[in-house]
Order: sequence, then C-alpha cells, then structure tokens
Amino acid sequence: MPFNVRALRDVDIHEVPLVSYSGKDRQPAYAPPTTPLSHNLTVPEGKKMYEGSCHCQAVRYAVVSDPLENVEANDCNCSLCGGNGTLWTYHSPSDVHISGKENLGCYLFGIKENHHYFCKTCGVNVYEQRGEEDHVGLNVRLLDGYEDEVKKMTVKKSNGRNDA
Ligand SMILES: [Zn+2]
Repeated sequence: MPFNVRALRDVDIHEVPLVSYSGKDRQPAYAPPTTPLSHNLTVPEGKKMYEGSCHCQAVRYAVVSDPLENVEANDCNCSLCGGNGTLWTYHSPSDVHISGKENLGCYLFGIKENHHYFCKTCGVNVYEQRGEEDHVGLNVRLLDGYEDEVKKMTVKKSNGRNDA
C-alpha cells in the first residue's frame, strides 16, 4: 500500500532520493480546464499570464508574473510544505485572481498569521497569504502544463524544517 513519505516527521524530503513517475502513463490522462477563466487581470509589457487549478478544478487561479524563466520557486521542506509537496512563487495580491473560493478550506497553525488555502474537494493546496496587503504564495505545481513550465524556473530549496 503506498503511503505519503512526506508525512513522516523524521524524514527531510530534500534528502529522499526521488524516482520520476509520469501519471500520463495511466489513462485517462489529466487534462487542464478547457473553459476560459474570467478575470480582470491585464498583462503589462514584459509580463506573462499563467493559469492553474486544483486537481478537481473547483478552484482555479490566474497570475500576472515575470516570465517563469526569471522566477525563483521556493521548495520548502517544513512540516507543512514538505508534507503537502507544494512549490511556491510569490506575487502581489493585485496580480492574482482566485476563482472558486467558496470551495476553499483554510488551515492556520502556530501564531495563526499565515492562511493556507486548500480545495475542500480534492485536498490540493492552492495558495497562502498572511494578510490582505501581503504577498500571495501560489502553488506553481498547479500550473497548466506544469512539467514544462517548472523546467524554466530556478528552484530554491529552503530549509523551513530547521529554520522555523
Ligand atoms: Zn479541488
């Protein structure tokens, strides 16, 4: 029976040798949403628009960002990010649109400052935010075409496990 090794508290996920597995080998293959996402975001010169969704697609996001080849993603090994397998990029709230918010749950812990939002249907972590004015952290593993997009990014491994 498979189990989530990320949930083991005494294992640093950055230290676990990983073997790539393509879910595309199992049919039917996952397909990103085909209906347009309605939002008011505009794309200034030099920026790009990206979209992503949770697995069941009840929650979707659009973000205006620097091109991903110029973006650093944060792979944190703390007990929450490491357990969930999230990969973060950070954005101004005005550059992010979230749809399907009614399907989000919110997880708070510790000093209850950072709001971690996840889809209540499929359980996927979508974004995190400290306050209305602060940055939004997006889980870029949810990007449409993630496998190709993430190759463009620099991924920084951060040691939240031991820094927190
Ligand atoms: Zn979902």
